[in-house]
Amino acid sequence: MLGAMQDWTMRVTTVIDHAAREAGSREIVTHWGDVSETRTDWAGIRRDALKMAQALQSLGVKPGDRVASLAMNHSRHLVSWYGVAGMGGVLHTVNPRLFDDQLEYIVGHAEDRVLLYDAAFQPIVDRMRSKWPTIEHYICYDPPAGADATGFEDWIGAQDGDFAWVQGDERDPCMLCYTSGTTGNPKGVLYEHRSTVLHAMAGLQPSAFNFSASSVMLPVVPMFHAASWGLPYAGAMAGVKFVFSAVNDPAVLDDLMKRENVTDSAGVPTVWLAHFQYCDAQGIELPKLHAATIGGSAAPKFMIERLMKNGTRVQHAWGMTETSPIGTVGGPTHDWDQLSFDEKVAKTAMQGRPVFGVELRTVDLDDFTKELPRDGESSGALQIRGPWVIRRYFKAEQDAVTADGWFDTGDVGIIHPDGTLQLTDRTKDVIKSGGEWISSVELENAAVGHPAVAEAAAVGMYHPKWDERPVLFVVRKAGADLSADEVIDHLKPLVAKWWLPDAVEFVDDIPHTATGKISKKDLRERFADYVLA
Ligand code: ADP
Repeated sequence: MLGAMQDWTMRVTTVIDHAAREAGSREIVTHWGDVSETRTDWAGIRRDALKMAQALQSLGVKPGDRVASLAMNHSRHLVSWYGVAGMGGVLHTVNPRLFDDQLEYIVGHAEDRVLLYDAAFQPIVDRMRSKWPTIEHYICYDPPAGADATGFEDWIGAQDGDFAWVQGDERDPCMLCYTSGTTGNPKGVLYEHRSTVLHAMAGLQPSAFNFSASSVMLPVVPMFHAASWGLPYAGAMAGVKFVFSAVNDPAVLDDLMKRENVTDSAGVPTVWLAHFQYCDAQGIELPKLHAATIGGSAAPKFMIERLMKNGTRVQHAWGMTETSPIGTVGGPTHDWDQLSFDEKVAKTAMQGRPVFGVELRTVDLDDFTKELPRDGESSGALQIRGPWVIRRYFKAEQDAVTADGWFDTGDVGIIHPDGTLQLTDRTKDVIKSGGEWISSVELENAAVGHPAVAEAAAVGMYHPKWDERPVLFVVRKAGADLSADEVIDHLKPLVAKWWLPDAVEFVDDIPHTATGKISKKDLRERFADYVLA
């Protein structure tokens, strides 16, 4: 016997319909790179999305076709998220920081038919146009006066908006995001309407983004990076006011946060770091945010401490493109009031707890069939499953999960008895010394706690006796004086003796991936001939 409740197809259009109906006048503010600002609201976003859906249809775009965007965060990009999904299309958010060969590969692999882009990325478009044969139409979000390009506003402005969302199955795809591909070609993750709606609802859990009707959100995490962590959907569900900046300049962000009374923000650690540096250089206070979501890389303790001292709740989140991306989020736990400030910081430096909807487990690094206990000590390969976790990469011939549905994240972690995840490394980066594992991440975190260290990366280098030993690459802060012995002395009380790096090498810079993470692969290539003395 079935139950007797209604069917309600989980389509992304239900999200924008809800936002326009229930929070229609909540503002969406955009600061454009040229210092102009525009204001619309959720009703306006829906109105424009309907016109955009119509405009796409008139170009001959069909349900299932891919429409690409090469754009920063702004209201027109937001319109596109709903406009493309609303006509049954799939929005492929392209990361403009990818290298040319990756840009060529992903647009060809996705078979994108239309490209929507920011004028700031015109040089990329000019450079890549001949390598993107699938793209039939180029539409510029903000063409400069007199430019020879179809402008987004004129393009949708030619439509009357008398359109009904294209209906379909909730398992239809609506968005395509590529991983930045630390090994091999980038891989496409094809989000569904259903997975997107469920993931956004998970983001509304109090232990996740913790939005209220009065939240004002400035997402610094780009809309091309793992769907901006689902914020444009979760924010629409909660009817939050959005403040977007099309430029990632801390001066602009700081001013916007203070002027628009922003309560919530989200970004990778480097974004917060840049904000600290800006405020310190100007001698001004950090904005008084209610909550800061930090993810994409580990949030260092000093960052958490500073935000918490400023009265900001720190939501340290872990996830990946393959998990839509929310996996775990850290917020106050049940015993929060009994913890000292330092204990709160230490807990927040871990990666939080799984939101309802995903399951986590760790397995033995040498034997993936052996599940590890959640004892706060056993460190193993982190696996995840749930309705917004990848099953198969776009166009792949095989599933990317085990027979019982677990996706191996490539991360190494510890699960604590209260469910808190503590990430210790990537499987590719963990250092195996004499049969024992050393966490490169913990070495790095400890090293960046030194006031003269700007950035640090630990890499396992070949050692004839121990197989691998850690070498720490360090970038000194500008003008700082720091010796290898001082680094080792700093690490001594913080890590086990046998974890201490065999060498500390000072470098001018450490290579990063397109999503701003340390690229150990590039670092290893750069030091391919390195020999431990
Ligand atoms: P990419 O395209 O670079 O893979 P993702 O955002 O999908 O971009 O990267 C996901 C990876 O980032 C995770 O597997 C993990 O290694 C790392 N990561 C994400 N969040 C955190 C965090 N809070 N702490 C430490 N590492 C994190």
